[in-house]
Amino acid sequence: MEEQEGVIKYQLNHTQQSLNHLLSLTEINAWRTIAARLDLIGQIPERYDNIGFGNISQRIDAHSAQFIISGTQTGHLERLSPEHYCLIVKAEPHQNRLQSCGLCKPSSESLTHAGIYAQDNAIQAVIHAHSPEIWKHTVALGLPHTSADVPYGTVEMATAVEQLFQSGNLLQTSLFTMLGHEDGVVAFGRNMQEAAWELIKYLSLAIGIEQQPINR
Ligand SMILES: [Zn+2]
Repeated sequence: MEEQEGVIKYQLNHTQQSLNHLLSLTEINAWRTIAARLDLIGQIPERYDNIGFGNISQRIDAHSAQFIISGTQTGHLERLSPEHYCLIVKAEPHQNRLQSCGLCKPSSESLTHAGIYAQDNAIQAVIHAHSPEIWKHTVALGLPHTSADVPYGTVEMATAVEQLFQSGNLLQTSLFTMLGHEDGVVAFGRNMQEAAWELIKYLSLAIGIEQQPINR
């Protein structure tokens, strides 16, 4: 792979300190574990040169621009602890700048998450997963997608995501694929469950396509 998951491409101003204990990580952490069990987030020797993949985030409250996100290089862990999360204090996707705090640095794809939250205040949760099945069947599933020449975690990706929202293609579907990022899928929702359900729904549809010969 020419691109490296896990390499932070933006300008990061990170404060190394533990997160406010009042921040609830219960819901995000449960879904993070489920995503890890389904290999939608993780680290697998046969995939991407054994680099960790996927990340998950949640707004800290309905009206805040701040969100918590799983930390970089945490893919190998099935269960995360508070020190593996990071608070995004301020994000400027178009300036490629991010301010964060936590005991761990934010995921390399935090700017993409920030770009999605910026589109709609109703979006409260974002999951970036790696699903070979969904990604491969982008066209068959009629999924919105960013094009193959847009790499992950860049200003171009932030712009492409913005255009995707403006196109109206994300009104019915809360999931899109990133064709410039192998197996890259992003699901979002008004809460963690909604984002996760959309992801699992399309995973089932993609697996259905792969298993079609079984009906013949
Ligand atoms: Zn990724």
